[in-house]
Amino acid sequence: MPHHLSLYQTAADFPVEVQTVGAALAAGITIEATCPRCWGARAVDLARIISFHGPGYSLIDRQTFCTFRPGCDGRVRFRYIGEYGMKTMESEQGRAWRASRDR
Ligand SMILES: [Zn+2]
Repeated sequence: MPHHLSLYQTAADFPVEVQTVGAALAAGITIEATCPRCWGARAVDLARIISFHGPGYSLIDRQTFCTFRPGCDGRVRFRYIGEYGMKTMESEQGRAWRASRDR
């Protein structure tokens, strides 16, 4: 499978334990933020995100501006460690939507 293809068509297709930050914390799921431009990466502090946004907040198909390196204009994406290794938290629908905007 090419690396840019997600296993999941839409955000709702992801496993329930990664659907929200509250569920991921309860299940002990590690979620990482990564920047595809500068390769910065770190584990997400789920408790901190919950304190800001509540346990129902989702990181699927979400992007934020890079804060890993000064001046990097990359957009951070999220991934989680699943049964068979790292999996992107971007659905095919989200990827297609972003590709249509970036073009
Ligand atoms: Zn970056």
